[in-house]
Amino acid sequence: MITVEQIVRWLQTVATLMEENKDFLTRLDADIGDGDHGINMDRGFKRVASGLNALQDKDIGEIMQEAGMTLVSSVGGASGPLYGTLFIRAAASASGKRHLNQDELTSFLKAGLSGVMDRGRAKRGDKTMVDALAPAVDALQLAAQEDKGIKEALAEAVLSAEEGMKGTIPMIAQKGRASYLGKRSIGHQDPGATSSYLILKALHDAVR
Ligand code: ADP
Ligand code: MG
Repeated sequence: MITVEQIVRWLQTVATLMEENKDFLTRLDADIGDGDHGINMDRGFKRVASGLNALQDKDIGEIMQEAGMTLVSSVGGASGPLYGTLFIRAAASASGKRHLNQDELTSFLKAGLSGVMDRGRAKRGDKTMVDALAPAVDALQLAAQEDKGIKEALAEAVLSAEEGMKGTIPMIAQKGRASYLGKRSIGHQDPGATSSYLILKALHDAVR
């Protein structure tokens, strides 16, 4: 069972990880984009974290909705609307809930992934955040089928996201700014896949 408190801790942990990885994410984005991804993520999740105190009595849907709106309004670029959509779609799947059981958690992240894919039209292999998020959702579904608990499922999701993130290195970017580079995007890890991995890692850290 995932609680409201764990969701709050997750978002705080995301803010911490984005701050710690700000320069790394920005360097990755400087290689194949415009070098602002770390700045974008740090600014957006700092804003999300600073709004959490006012949301203590809210349910998971309300907290995620607020976080999503904050990301849309404060991040900008490609990743702001995409992560905003992820959070807002996940919010809809957790509407009115103060707990998520394992199936609900899987649906929650699956809804977020579908939001990103609807909005950005990227598929797997396009060298985007989808390449970290989609394998993580698959891992959650598989772990549930194998009767593994939430913590183990999340641990496997994080490993799959990490593999997916590293798997973007040899890919040719098909979406976003990196796609302007064509084959020159080969050999670089996608910044958005990296921030998605960090978001999932933060969830596992907050729950265990
Ligand atoms: P911008 O490209 O506007 O500067 P960011 O640097 O914050 O925005 O984010 C770049 C990341 O956004 C990329 O590394 C990629 O993972 C992700 N991205 C870009 N376009 C798409 C898309 N259409 N679908 C999914 N993710 C995308
Ligand atoms: Mg950028």
